[in-house]
Amino acid sequence: MITYDRDKCIRCGTCLDVCPQLTIDWGTDGIPIQSRPHDCMECGACAMNCPAAAVHVEAGVGCFGALVNETLFGKKDGCG
Ligand code: SF4
Ligand code: SF4
Repeated sequence: MITYDRDKCIRCGTCLDVCPQLTIDWGTDGIPIQSRPHDCMECGACAMNCPAAAVHVEAGVGCFGALVNETLFGKKDGCG
């Protein structure tokens, strides 16, 4: 799962372009939103490629976290 610093975002669209899971869309206010946070695999590509350092990846919440929980603890959290 990711969060944005809305004041830093320059609306370049890079985070949408680099997300391998296509979880990010444009919000109605022109700031990106993560429309499918549970599909986020926490790869960090959006944060690493953001020219404004406006993206923060919250580890252990999205798809990757679900896979880790399933592997380590047998929890079936869903990871589409
Ligand atoms: S890559 Fe960064 S600056 Fe560009 S739209 Fe996404 S959050 Fe905004
Ligand atoms: S961390 Fe990876 S999968 Fe998650 S939103 Fe960013 S680019 Fe997409």
